Amino acid sequence: MPFCSTPDVPLAADEIARLSALPDGAHEVKPVLGCELEPGHGGPHWAQGQAEDWGSGSIKNWWLRWDEATGLREWAHDDTCRVDSTAGDPDHDICLLPAGHAGGHSWAI
Ligand SMILES: [Zn+2]
Ligand SMILES: [Zn+2]
Repeated sequence: MPFCSTPDVPLAADEIARLSALPDGAHEVKPVLGCELEPGHGGPHWAQGQAEDWGSGSIKNWWLRWDEATGLREWAHDDTCRVDSTAGDPDHDICLLPAGHAGGHSWAI
């Protein structure tokens, strides 16, 4: 799966500490994040740093959103895309990128 080839972004120590300290964090926090959108996408880059999972589909995403051109670098809590690849196919896949993301869904990249 070829992802966007923009350089990975290192997290600051306080960001790693904050994401790691979230009591319901679903993932191990990675010190360096890479964009999860498709190559050549428009708009800012997106990478998931953490997700707080309270079950029953109740999730708070921690997306790092950045753009080298404008200097944008911020945390966003956009919902998950969840577009299904092929409903009815037992091997179907759910997108899991931020809702409204640029480029193709994760299963199409
Ligand atoms: Zn990107
Ligand atoms: Zn999607």
